[in-house]
Amino acid sequence: MTSPTPSIASPVPDSRGRYGPYGGRYVPETLVAPLEELERAYAEACADPAFHAGLDALLHDFAGRPTPLQFASRLTERLGGPRIYLKREDLLHTGAHKINNCLGQGLLAVRMGKKRVIAETGAGQHGVATATVAARLGLSCTVYMGTEDMERQRLNVFRMRLLGAEVVGVDAGSRTLKDAINEAMRDWVTNVRTSHYLLGSVLGAHPYPQIVRDFQKIIGEEAREQILRAEKRLPDHLYACVGGGSNSIGLFHAFLGDAGVKMVGIEAGGRGKSLGEHAARLGAAHGFTGARPGVLQGTYTYVLQTADGQIAPTHSISAGLDYPAIGPEHAWLADLGRAEYTSVTDEEAIDAARTLARIEGIIPALESAHAVAGLIQRAPRMKNSEIVILNVSGRGDKDMETLSRYV
Ligand SMILES: *Cc1c(COP(=O)(O)O)cnc(C)c1O
Repeated sequence: MTSPTPSIASPVPDSRGRYGPYGGRYVPETLVAPLEELERAYAEACADPAFHAGLDALLHDFAGRPTPLQFASRLTERLGGPRIYLKREDLLHTGAHKINNCLGQGLLAVRMGKKRVIAETGAGQHGVATATVAARLGLSCTVYMGTEDMERQRLNVFRMRLLGAEVVGVDAGSRTLKDAINEAMRDWVTNVRTSHYLLGSVLGAHPYPQIVRDFQKIIGEEAREQILRAEKRLPDHLYACVGGGSNSIGLFHAFLGDAGVKMVGIEAGGRGKSLGEHAARLGAAHGFTGARPGVLQGTYTYVLQTADGQIAPTHSISAGLDYPAIGPEHAWLADLGRAEYTSVTDEEAIDAARTLARIEGIIPALESAHAVAGLIQRAPRMKNSEIVILNVSGRGDKDMETLSRYV
């Protein structure tokens, strides 16, 4: 099977990078020209068959696409509800869907004549995927990481360095992701002629949310073909976890035009509903406090913030979901009611990880375990004739230490 290629097929965003009222480009003057350059280069790449061919080859030979769509027969039997299929992004090189986007943007950097990529990372997963792609493409790579995060994720720091990346510790502020983002932006502004800023999720100023979505929508394009082959019809439900929102929009996108396909994004409910205890940016309907539309990292979207507009602290057991903003396209899909957003707690995610491990022989990333937990809650209310596709965004190897503390 050949992989479908990304293309600018979607009616959203508009020419100003807006998804309804969300998205856009809220950046200092110095970044306007580089973002316009990126937008132009991306449009040219999309129209160039050689770009698609190069990306397809890397996705296939290096990353391991297409990933299987596996019928989870034992989980289906255990939950007694719908027929459950797992999209196995956990089987990709480096263990998660992030490599799809990194390969796309890496090739784009090469095309733009940039010799260097810059990234920021929290837990290190995006840093490792970026360092991996930089090595494969012969680019130099600098990854910014809060020193607190470096301490917590020593193994990933070592991985990135082994892959030849320079890992720069950021000692400012809370010494975590937010501070690393600031440093990475500073680097980009200074070195924009030689460097591409490789953003890891559907966040940031236009055109990033669109570019990252387009490089991830292969997940849903493959899944659509695969389910039509297996079941001769479309699924009734899609389930995926939502950090920034790239694996979920990657799964959802190919089905957005199919009114019968319901979509559920699962955010981190953490350990409570008050500000600082969760990362449920779209959870107001379920009693989570603190989220309002605002600007973070160049885009207008739902942001967890204090009463006076400071970015609020967040909590999740899974680092990949622990972020105060959500991709602008999700904010729009939520407003439209096209996708539904719910959350599960840390503990429910841990239980779900254990269930999937024991029932299906798959240890999911704690992020992906949130999607599993969301499905476990709702499956009993679904009919046996219904079909679900759940995105297993990554594997759980990185979470062994966390899991061993709980299980
Ligand atoms: C980073 C990560 C996520 C969260 O990011 P999205 O952009 O929301 O997909 C989810 N799952 C895994 C395995 C991750 O590494």
